[in-house]
Amino acid sequence: MIIQLEEKIKSTDKENILSSVNAIGYKITDVKTQAGNYLVCIGKNEFDIRLVGSLHGVKDVHRVSEAYKLVSSKWKVGSSTIDLGDDVKIGDGKCAVMAGPCSIESEEQVEKIVAHLVQNNIKIMRGGVFKPRSSPYAFRGMGIEGLKMFHRICRQNGIKIITEVMQVSQIAEMHEYVDVFQVGARNSQNFNLLDELGKVDKAILIKRGMSGTIDELLQSAEYIFSNGNEKLMLCERGIRTYENAYRNTFDINAIPILKEKTHLPVIADPSHGIGIREHVPVIALAAMMAGADGVIYEVHEKPEEAVSDGQQTLNFYESEHLIRRLNANIQLK
Ligand code: PEP
Ligand code: MN
Repeated sequence: MIIQLEEKIKSTDKENILSSVNAIGYKITDVKTQAGNYLVCIGKNEFDIRLVGSLHGVKDVHRVSEAYKLVSSKWKVGSSTIDLGDDVKIGDGKCAVMAGPCSIESEEQVEKIVAHLVQNNIKIMRGGVFKPRSSPYAFRGMGIEGLKMFHRICRQNGIKIITEVMQVSQIAEMHEYVDVFQVGARNSQNFNLLDELGKVDKAILIKRGMSGTIDELLQSAEYIFSNGNEKLMLCERGIRTYENAYRNTFDINAIPILKEKTHLPVIADPSHGIGIREHVPVIALAAMMAGADGVIYEVHEKPEEAVSDGQQTLNFYESEHLIRRLNANIQLK
């Protein structure tokens, strides 16, 4: 059960609610976010929910039987929108596009990609400065100095930044330079990291783990929400299956299922989802037709020279073509 409390609840009313719920034998987690104060109540005993609903200070109450609660569409009907400021929104019915290189490589590289985004009216740039790589000998990112440079060029051009955070200790140093923290597939169940990202007032994009189920992704999102951060979106980026004709199996089914199960925006990553440049655009379009709220994809001036993931990175011409098709498709929806 979730109870939403009234904004200006009297402390005596709150105490009364807490003791009434305790009396039914439910364990209570008190959750305060940017948008509200909720009591997440877990238990099995039968009780009349109308009695809870009639207590002073209760704004709303619902039963949610799933393991995830606050991210469930049973709790909040309709989609949530994330506002990044300057009229940049995710989940507002338009297709949110986030594009950029796999890795931030140099000032020149960022400037060229920013110019491409500006030309195509794209407002959010992706790019990793802390890179999770399978091999310890591969390029692992420019680090915090790279992020500062990335931030400076984006700010000069009115572009928002999404970049991956890999560990708790990076959150504070990155905070000022980030608009959206990305949680990568490998960290999808790093519960300490999720707890801490629940305490920041920045948007979070959490990717599905390579072998993570949809329910596990939703429970990971619940970690962030229940720690106080509602500015949250989910990302399908492909899962690992027996198929090896492509890098990952983009799970198109996850898009409508997630849209049914949660009110959070759902983003598709077709670049990691298939891992083959030629086919990235059709997977992006398919995801939008399946109900995604946006796409995140990799683009580079010269994909063949990219330090990471060049094989799945679009060049500017391909990227522009995809943006045009995404815009046209949105009008068909
Ligand atoms: C990335 O976005 O470049 C990345 C490493 O993604 P994932 O965590 O989905 O592998
Ligand atoms: Mn990548």
